[in-house]
Amino acid sequence: MKKIFFIIPSFIFLFTHIIACKGQGNAKIDTAMQTQTHHQEIKKNQTFEVQKTDADWQQSLDAEQYRILRQKGTERPFTSPLEDIYDGGTYVCAGCGNQLFSSEGKFNSGCGWPSFYEALDQKQIITQTDNTFGMTRTEILCAKCGGHLGHVFNDGPKDKSGLRYCVNGKSLNFIKK
Ligand SMILES: [Zn+2]
Repeated sequence: MKKIFFIIPSFIFLFTHIIACKGQGNAKIDTAMQTQTHHQEIKKNQTFEVQKTDADWQQSLDAEQYRILRQKGTERPFTSPLEDIYDGGTYVCAGCGNQLFSSEGKFNSGCGWPSFYEALDQKQIITQTDNTFGMTRTEILCAKCGGHLGHVFNDGPKDKSGLRYCVNGKSLNFIKK
């Protein structure tokens, strides 16, 4: 019962925060439309280069990484130490080490999660339409292991790509240059 009392307020906080975040900036955000990217969409019965059993994933990841990467969880906003890091380096998938983002594509979105306006290599991230929580969002996944990373929105910096990759810090490892 205690767990439920914890989960419900967390959920409400997270949900209202996602909505609040969408209202920021001058960009017009259409939550009913999938964000257009150059990434490939996940295929039906997609297979991934990195294959592990569920038990192996649980063993190789910590509990929070497993919840996010393998169960499509979301970390609480403003909790990732990676959010405020702007050192030069590469952000790799915490599940398989796939190189996903560069420090050069990182920006401060104020949303509470590490944010990027571009991926290091379009091919290393795939997308999937996510209709949970009454919204249509574009989920981003690691193309090598299928790990859930976060979502991509169309309210990123207009002088760059216009995209905002909103990524769970726990799904990433930072390798400093
Ligand atoms: Zn991966």
